[in-house]
Amino acid sequence: MRHGTRHLAGRVSEKRRRPSGQPRRNALTAPTTTSPALSLPLQGSVGSGGGNALDDVRLVKRRLIALGFSWLSEDTSINQATIRAIRLFQAITQGFQRVEGAGVDGLVEAGGNTHRWLEASNAPRWRLMPAGGAPEDGFRNIEVLDQTGDDHDWGTEWLAHTITAAGTTYRTGYLSAHPSAAPITVNDASKPRGGPTPDHQTHQTGMCCDLRVPRTDGTAPGNTTLHDPTYDRDAMRAMLSAFRAEPLVRRILFNDPVLVREGFCTALAGHDDHAHAEITAPARVVAGGDS
Ligand SMILES: [Zn+2]
Repeated sequence: MRHGTRHLAGRVSEKRRRPSGQPRRNALTAPTTTSPALSLPLQGSVGSGGGNALDDVRLVKRRLIALGFSWLSEDTSINQATIRAIRLFQAITQGFQRVEGAGVDGLVEAGGNTHRWLEASNAPRWRLMPAGGAPEDGFRNIEVLDQTGDDHDWGTEWLAHTITAAGTTYRTGYLSAHPSAAPITVNDASKPRGGPTPDHQTHQTGMCCDLRVPRTDGTAPGNTTLHDPTYDRDAMRAMLSAFRAEPLVRRILFNDPVLVREGFCTALAGHDDHAHAEITAPARVVAGGDS
C-alpha cells in the first residue's frame, strides 16, 4: 500500500515536470549533461606512477564513483582496478573504442586533460544501457531485455542517449508509417567494467553497439544477413538514418552496398549480419562555457 502510494506520487511529479520543462525525449538535442561541473582541486598527479597524495586520490576516486565507475572503493589506494578505471575514463573522453592509445596511461595529471574531463559538467557517466522494448521506444535492446548471459549491457551515458534518441527518431519518422516493421534491435555494448571482450575487437569503452538486421516480417532474430531474401532494407535505411542524425555518431559499419552507396554506412569485413554504430566524445563542457 505505502509502496503503491509512493509510486503514484513519482508518476504525478513526472507528469507535472513535463509541461513547463523540456520534452522527456528530444532526438535533436545533444546528450544531456548529467552532473554539475565541479572543482577537483588536485595538488599533484593521481594514478599509475603518480604522486598519489591521499587527498588527491580520494578526490579522484570519489568523482569516478559518482560518475558510475562504482566498482571502485572510496579509499586512498591506487590498485589495478583504479588504474584500469582511469584508463577506461581516458579512452572514453578521447572517443576511443578500445582502452588503449595515446593518452590512455592511467595517470591523472593536475591540470591535464583527464583532470579537466573529471571536472566537466558533461563528464562521461558509466551506466546500464537502456532496455527499450515498449512500442513508443522504437528500439529493443535484446542484450538487456533477454539477459543473453554474456553481459554486454553497459556503456556511456552518451551511448545510452544516442540509442534512446535514435529510437525516437525511428519511431516517429518510420515506424509510425510502417507499424509492422521491426524496431531497432540493439545488441552488445560493453562489459560491466568495460575493457576487452572476446566477442569483439572493439566494444571496450561503452561507445559502440551493434544493430541486428531487420526482416520484412518485423523481426530481427540475429541470424539474418543482408543477403537474406527477407532482409528489410527500407527499415534498415531508416534505422541507420536515425543513428546518423545523432550528433555523436561517428560511423556505422554495414556491408549493404546500396546503403553504402547512399552514404549511410561503411563496408568492413564481418558486417553482413549486423551493423556496428559507434560514437565519439562531445566537446568538453565546463562551467562558464566550452573549453
Ligand atoms: Zn560491433
